Amino acid sequence: MNEKQKKLEEIAKQVAACQKCPLYKQATNAVPGAGSAEAEIFFIGEGPGDHEDQQGLPFVGAAGKLLDSLLEEIGLNRKDVFIGNMVKHRPPDNRDPEPAELAACMPWLDRQLAIIEPKMIVTLGRFSMAKFIPDGKISRIHGQARFVTFQDQKVLVVPFFHPAAALRNGNVMSQFREDFLKLPELLERFKRLEAQVPVEVTQDLEEKEETQQMSLL
Ligand code: URA
Repeated sequence: MNEKQKKLEEIAKQVAACQKCPLYKQATNAVPGAGSAEAEIFFIGEGPGDHEDQQGLPFVGAAGKLLDSLLEEIGLNRKDVFIGNMVKHRPPDNRDPEPAELAACMPWLDRQLAIIEPKMIVTLGRFSMAKFIPDGKISRIHGQARFVTFQDQKVLVVPFFHPAAALRNGNVMSQFREDFLKLPELLERFKRLEAQVPVEVTQDLEEKEETQQMSLL
């Protein structure tokens, strides 16, 4: 096990013992997140549901099956990425996490992000989007990549609809799938841009490419 993996394991142990908010009281298992310590893409959901609570693993229900099949379509599986959540214990009856719960749980996610240092963060749903793009409206900006300076690093944030919303609505499903299939190309464009110029500002990927007057495609 390498250093990064050890640090993630240590966080997982601490998350399992976390009592910083009341959510642990009704939970069966904590769900710290899972995947590769070297992941280039870090997916952030909202919080564990029933299946996740039972198994201690993120996205193992219907929404997770959708993620798995779309990851496969782009030639990846969940061992290649990291999948985490805004809150690590299940909110009762799958209610929305409350602001105090989100705030109490945030340091775990921040530490995971600091260890993994992903190139791209894909937010699933509005809670994780709001962490990076507080004024974003998901129906307008889903699938659009933008640079965000986070923990003194440039990272590409791509907001997606939540997969559970895609499962409820066919129109959202088509947009979710379309956004997902664009991920490999976005990551490639980002890597080419990163290799050529320092990127420090918060701006849209396309805007950045235009201002650098580079054709990356
Ligand atoms: N929904 C989420 O947001 N996270 C999970 O882990 C499962 C379902």
